[in-house]
Amino acid sequence: MTSLSKSLLARRDAVLGPNMSTFYQEPVHLVKGEGVWVWDHDGKKYLDCYNNVPHVGHCHPHVVKAMSDQAATLNTHTRYLHEGIVDYAEKLTATFDDPLNTALLCCTGSEANDVALRMAEAVTGKTGIIVTNHTYHGNTTAVSALSTTNPSKFGKSSHIRHVPAPDSYRPPEGDAGEYFAEQVKAKIAELEDSEHGFAALLIDPFFANEGFPDLPAGFLNATMKVVHDAGGILIADEVQPGFGRTGSHMWGHQYQGITPDVVTLGKPMGNGHPVAGVVTTAAIMHEFRTAFRYFNTFGGNPVSCATALAVLEVIEQEGLMQQAADVGAYAKGRLQELAEKHSVIGDVRGRGMFFGAELVTDRTTKAPATDYILRVIEELRNRGILLNKIGIHYNTLKIRPNLQFTRDDADLLIDTLDQVLSDVQP
Ligand code: PMP
Repeated sequence: MTSLSKSLLARRDAVLGPNMSTFYQEPVHLVKGEGVWVWDHDGKKYLDCYNNVPHVGHCHPHVVKAMSDQAATLNTHTRYLHEGIVDYAEKLTATFDDPLNTALLCCTGSEANDVALRMAEAVTGKTGIIVTNHTYHGNTTAVSALSTTNPSKFGKSSHIRHVPAPDSYRPPEGDAGEYFAEQVKAKIAELEDSEHGFAALLIDPFFANEGFPDLPAGFLNATMKVVHDAGGILIADEVQPGFGRTGSHMWGHQYQGITPDVVTLGKPMGNGHPVAGVVTTAAIMHEFRTAFRYFNTFGGNPVSCATALAVLEVIEQEGLMQQAADVGAYAKGRLQELAEKHSVIGDVRGRGMFFGAELVTDRTTKAPATDYILRVIEELRNRGILLNKIGIHYNTLKIRPNLQFTRDDADLLIDTLDQVLSDVQP
């Protein structure tokens, strides 16, 4: 680590406090980004294969111009009339299937999920929530209580139930979709027997934090029916798969062929600018706005809306969903070829610009290579490739580049991974 990075880390610890995580044993000290590339303060260039926030490319000129033009014209709180939020909400909701045609804007994915929980309470009059047992949905008090990947002993609550995260590499006997629905049904019964009742199932339809298992379209059909039969709602957290990342569809739930009751959005929405949102039916929005008088000072301000609109325009004008489908399929194919050479690769999965491989110490027992993957990621970083790990056993390479990623970038990533898997001994 350079002396400048060392002193920055020390100042950061002193002024921000402990447990402020950084990736890598030797944190990367970035100063600039462009397209799929980022540079550290020492001039070293890295291929960013992880960062789904700069969704249409680091510092995309069209997004930067829209943001700065609006910042130079007007930015204000959100209690005045302004075209920006209406134009954006119309354009955004047009990407959803009926009857998902109203939107609420806020600033983070956590806030979006927090609002979704209140929508569930407003429409059902109940508070019980079901999530998977390996999930993260954000950091408000209500939402962090749902997150099993948050180790805190505080904030646990009796209105939350967990179902096993789907695992396509170690599948249950029988139909995986029916199995998941059965688990949800059992937890609904528990909640209905409690003082809380059942309000909602909250899931990422791509199950990103769970390690993005390979689930066929239709996997959630039985679950959707179970939720609705019980009078609850289904909330789809699209913070990770949304905005065309998976290539075939704009939204993860559309691949699954379901229409959730509430959808939450975040990270990629503003290409790095903090804007997030909730999309739902007019009826649910009406119930929510009647039950809770929601106001968000920054949510949907003119600069956020100009930025978010520019992101949608770039996705459309540059054909980035098609690029996600093409390049993602190519990269995944190359990763599958690597699996023939490196036995540590147990499973390759993902869709579009969200793919990866589960590393195992033994393909028969499927024992997770949890320590090994750390060394692989670290060495990739040393060789200029940024990515990370995820999944139930934290042994899945999480490769989630922005949508400007090309076949040449994929070749560089896979060739470097090939060398690292040869050089770093299990
Ligand atoms: N939902 C999911 C699925 C997430 O992965 C995250 C963040 N990693 C969030 C919600 C929270 O988003 P934010 O950090 O913008 O609050």
